[in-house]
Amino acid sequence: MSKLKIVVVGSSNTDMVIKMDRLPGPGETLIGGEFIMAAGGKGANQAVAAARLGGEVTFIARVGTDIFGQQAIEGFRQEEIHTDFIVQDERYPSGVALIFVDQGGENSIGVASGANGQLSIEDVAAARAEMEAAKVLLLQLETPIETVRYAARTAKEMGVKVILNPAPARALDDELLGNITVLTPNETEAELLAGISITDDASTREAAARLKQRGVENVIITLGAKGAMVITDEGAQQIPTKEVKAVDTTAAGDAFNGALAFALAEDKSLEEAVRFANLAGALSATRMSAQPSMPTLEELQQFAG
Ligand code: ADP
Repeated sequence: MSKLKIVVVGSSNTDMVIKMDRLPGPGETLIGGEFIMAAGGKGANQAVAAARLGGEVTFIARVGTDIFGQQAIEGFRQEEIHTDFIVQDERYPSGVALIFVDQGGENSIGVASGANGQLSIEDVAAARAEMEAAKVLLLQLETPIETVRYAARTAKEMGVKVILNPAPARALDDELLGNITVLTPNETEAELLAGISITDDASTREAAARLKQRGVENVIITLGAKGAMVITDEGAQQIPTKEVKAVDTTAAGDAFNGALAFALAEDKSLEEAVRFANLAGALSATRMSAQPSMPTLEELQQFAG
């Protein structure tokens, strides 16, 4: 059987992570512990997550011509991700993220987008044939919004399922939301998009209902250690995840979204897909850093027990 094709449009960064006893406050210098450099960026993380599980992934992105961009592309090739549509920008540096992680796995992140901010409609249009052959398009918000909007509209017209992970949080227009098959905000992002605060089960459902009213077909609100709430036309359902000792939740959401894309490419039901994605999110939370923490299918099956 040929592999299931997934197109990811998004960011690629190099993450520089320092483990700290606690996160430094404003104006404060803290001596930290271990330093780790690893490939990151929401788009790249989600592309790697889907590829490790067995998806045939094409990644559409922009990096610089510097060493970070070259290392990133080399890394994608090792993951068997198609890199033909990754543009190396001559003018802008590759994206970089500076991350602090505390002992409880909580993080604080600053990002310099660099070439990610130049990802254009033309870059996506160049890969039209890839999109047409795909089962799922996976998007986030670390690249220009007009490019995200174009990719979503194009895929929807082609009958390709569109997953938008609306991270980092920002306001979105109804035209974009109307082209989304599955929107996957965390609680903070859902609050911003729905315009209400989420405090309990009822307000989580209400936030999702409002997002559906704005044109989204299905909503999955991720709830950290509590799993995720799935809201479709049939109703709402909270799907718990496996209890783990979190070490670093930096890319738990990315593991979740990559796995969700893979499961939906397999035509699993939304409920089944979320059970699978929850496992990927939980397992990645037990490991340090972004791309290195993404599980393979075998690891996930073992973890599921
Ligand atoms: P984000 O990382 O984008 O803020 P969440 O914190 O909601 O998003 O995490 C995404 C998913 O990762 C959750 O829905 C869950 O499946 C998994 N996850 C995250 N943190 C934990 C945790 N501490 N224990 C188990 N699963 C987790």
